[in-house]
Amino acid sequence: MESKAPILLEVKGLKKHFSIRKGFFRQVAGYVRAVDGVDFFIREGETLGLVGESGCGKTTTGRTILRAYEPTAGEVWFRTNGEMINVFQVPKNEMKALRREMQIIFQDPFSSLNPRMTVMDIVSEPLRIHGIAKGAELKSRVRELLEAVGLKAQHMNRYPYAFSGGQRQRIGVARALASRPKLIICDEPVSALDVSVQAQTLNLLEDLQKEFGLTYLFVAHDLSVVEHISSRVAVMYLGVIVELASAEELYDNPLHPYTEALLSAVPRTDPDHVSQRIVLEGDVPSPANPPSGCKFHPRCRYSQGVCETEAPEWRELSDDHWVACHRAEELNLVGIDYD
Ligand code: SF4
Repeated sequence: MESKAPILLEVKGLKKHFSIRKGFFRQVAGYVRAVDGVDFFIREGETLGLVGESGCGKTTTGRTILRAYEPTAGEVWFRTNGEMINVFQVPKNEMKALRREMQIIFQDPFSSLNPRMTVMDIVSEPLRIHGIAKGAELKSRVRELLEAVGLKAQHMNRYPYAFSGGQRQRIGVARALASRPKLIICDEPVSALDVSVQAQTLNLLEDLQKEFGLTYLFVAHDLSVVEHISSRVAVMYLGVIVELASAEELYDNPLHPYTEALLSAVPRTDPDHVSQRIVLEGDVPSPANPPSGCKFHPRCRYSQGVCETEAPEWRELSDDHWVACHRAEELNLVGIDYD
């Protein structure tokens, strides 16, 4: 059912270009267009899956929203204290208060935890930084957080090396939850984990979302991971979003050839499902020198003349189903049954 909750995060025309410097004087020789004009919104309590191959700009999008990178262009609006504010216009010295409401869970549970800090130090850090708790209350808050993520109070005094990958990711989740954020950017939180642990972590994130009323931007590199956790899904290619729809609509009725190719790689358990894997030729082109016209055209099996010269418009083809493809109306693309 379509969510009508208020919008929590709105991203408008977001761009992040990194300069390439060369030579003795480190002159600017070009730009990597990691994020090249991205628009989407997320309603309170929903999960937007942001999916694409490595190098498509999805992680940079998440980090630019949090101002870990300063944007090249665009706006990010976030609802706080009942009103929408432009995150990029918040003075740097006032970002701390906003960061309390916007947190991140990192991909790699091994490198994202300081090996010299105990679990108590790691999880309590946001509570101390934001002045939320101290003394005995600090300890009891950490205990509650560990229990909320399926760990135990006796884990508090141990160091990260004593835990498995899945447990370390739970510590990272507890740290992200500590400041009681509204929005969590989940940056490929399960891709470094064993398959058997991935489902447990996804279930945990879903349970916590219900318990704490969280909103997620869930970044992943394939559509199988985000299928069940996402309310809506955005597919990203070479710095731009090429398709966005409800999860059910996107899986059942894809309108962009890149989405069709990603869907063909999603494993199904249904014995009647005959998968015809679409193998994309070549790698993702360099974002420093993107192809003309539709950026996907060198790898698209439906490409025609216009695709090589004109960038397709971002348009709403049916209710809340957005796509950027010249041929979206005429192509009859193959989806998969959304479970
Ligand atoms: Fe393929 Fe052309 Fe559509 Fe791009 S615009 S996805 S090249 S058919």
